[in-house]
Amino acid sequence: MKFYIETIGCQMNVNDSDKMAEILLENGCMQTDDMLQANIVIINTCSVRFSAEHKAYSLLGRLKEQKDINPNLIIGVTGCMAQYATKEIKSRCKYVDFVLGARDLDMFSKVIIKYLPKSKENVKYKQENKEVFKYITIMRGCSNFCSYCIVPYVRGPEISINYNEIIKEVNEAVTDGAKEIILLGQNVNSYNYDGVNFTHLLQKVSQIDKVKRIRFMTNHPKDFSNELIEEIATNKKICRHIHLPLQSGSNAILKAMNRKYTYEQYENLFNKIRNSIPDISITSDIIIGFPGETDKDFKATFDASRKLQFGGLFIFKYSSRPKTVSAKLKNIVPLEVIKKRHTLLLEDSNIISKKINEKYINQVVEVLVENFKKNIAQARNSQNIKIFFDTDKNLVGQIVNVKITKVLPNSMLGILQ
Ligand code: SF4
Repeated sequence: MKFYIETIGCQMNVNDSDKMAEILLENGCMQTDDMLQANIVIINTCSVRFSAEHKAYSLLGRLKEQKDINPNLIIGVTGCMAQYATKEIKSRCKYVDFVLGARDLDMFSKVIIKYLPKSKENVKYKQENKEVFKYITIMRGCSNFCSYCIVPYVRGPEISINYNEIIKEVNEAVTDGAKEIILLGQNVNSYNYDGVNFTHLLQKVSQIDKVKRIRFMTNHPKDFSNELIEEIATNKKICRHIHLPLQSGSNAILKAMNRKYTYEQYENLFNKIRNSIPDISITSDIIIGFPGETDKDFKATFDASRKLQFGGLFIFKYSSRPKTVSAKLKNIVPLEVIKKRHTLLLEDSNIISKKINEKYINQVVEVLVENFKKNIAQARNSQNIKIFFDTDKNLVGQIVNVKITKVLPNSMLGILQ
């Protein structure tokens, strides 16, 4: 049996897809990159934006044609959209075999086993796992209820995973060849299991010899502690990159978003991090067109982006989500205004991040090689910037030095030293 998984959405979904793939591989299935070749297709959905849901339904539309040709095709829908729109998916797409929400993914192995052949000759096949980096979920759900966000409704309240289980997973990952561990949660800064907080967890993970690098995401400015800043500053295994979502530079909008910090508090934290860890790269998220966002509010966001000089900015157009508090708000910002503001900020922030990256020209940086194709290696530096260089050797999994020669909008080119 061949399976194909389409992952839509965030790194949490990437991680859930990896787990489902692992279960399928352990049960004798093989992974394929070609949806048309697969006997099992799983769409792991996201519900954070309307466009993500639209993508899932259009894929399901294509799969209907595939199922008409091959009625034995197994189609599964998992993830956040599957969690809150189970009935809708089942009634719109009657040809789907199973729907399993993000909170029920623990049931995946029980569900999928029903569709797999029972033949004893079905030799267990474990694909060689040579992942350079490994995502590890340390928390599930979220209890923050930002007014625009559907996550707390679909993924449930925040739960920290037992650190013993996390450490066990980290050990397995490095034994399988992983060099970099990426700890995941909707708000890793509020991790707490039995008195072990996120800083303590970072210390435990970094004590594992074979772990070469540690990253984590995502952070919430209201919970980013001084203790954590100190740990990152002194722990060389922790990468010099922090993703710190701002969402808006306007205090009125931040309040309406229920973000629980003011712009001034954010700026204060930002400066503290930058002063304590001079080589840090701080990236951020911005939502444009939250209901009621005036020109003045947008200007505050634009000014914040110029002032703080983020290493990279992910700018999203506001998308109204069912069940959320902001879905009930009036004062909808017209789409053409949102598009205009989006373009203005995007163009300006691209100039800023390119300028920041230009400081790397002629510098030798340490990178972890993640991929190798057609004599080109793809690597990443500690600041999470993608770097490409020519080589005739497969250096995947190795940490090497590269001299930067050119800066592109989202990546850099270099020469292996
Ligand atoms: S912190 Fe806010 S934006 Fe992030 S998942 Fe939780 S509710 Fe959503």
